[in-house]
Amino acid sequence: MEKIDFNCIFCAIAAQRAPAAIVYESDGALAFLDIRPVAQGHTLVIPKKHSRNLFDLDDLSGMAVMHASRVVARALRAAFNADGLTMLQSSERAGGQEVFHYHQHLAPRFIGDGLMSSEPGERRMHWRARTSPSREELQAIAAKIRAHIKDD
Ligand code: AMP
Ligand code: ZN
Repeated sequence: MEKIDFNCIFCAIAAQRAPAAIVYESDGALAFLDIRPVAQGHTLVIPKKHSRNLFDLDDLSGMAVMHASRVVARALRAAFNADGLTMLQSSERAGGQEVFHYHQHLAPRFIGDGLMSSEPGERRMHWRARTSPSREELQAIAAKIRAHIKDD
């Protein structure tokens, strides 16, 4: 890995220096469960190489992250029988970013789940309340998703 910054929690996860419930890994990207999920299977996809956000993401990392997101999206749909999925990326504080290593959120969606309402007059941009599962629960969910990964 070219650039390792252990002040960055997601760099530490990518270097296996911090715990994570890993769903998928490739040469350039890593997918793991969000510790405060908005839905079961809420996954974060990161480039292994540190980028702060979309403003400085390099093309190779972007390709790796997009490939990983597509593979994980299909696995999430299969694992949870989801009707759809929302992918979210926040850049800078003004955009809602809290962790400053590029990441894409993938959340399985179900008809009528109300997670991000698109009802007229109620265009919420924010997720519904989050949960705080244990590390063991997250590992069990990650194993369920990994069983549906098909990297093609
Ligand atoms: P954002 O607002 O897009 O920067 O979201 C950051 C996300 O990272 C939040 O949903 C957090 O719950 C999640 N998060 C923070 N620390 C960790 C961690 N150590 N492992 C997994 N997810 C994390
Ligand atoms: Zn980083």
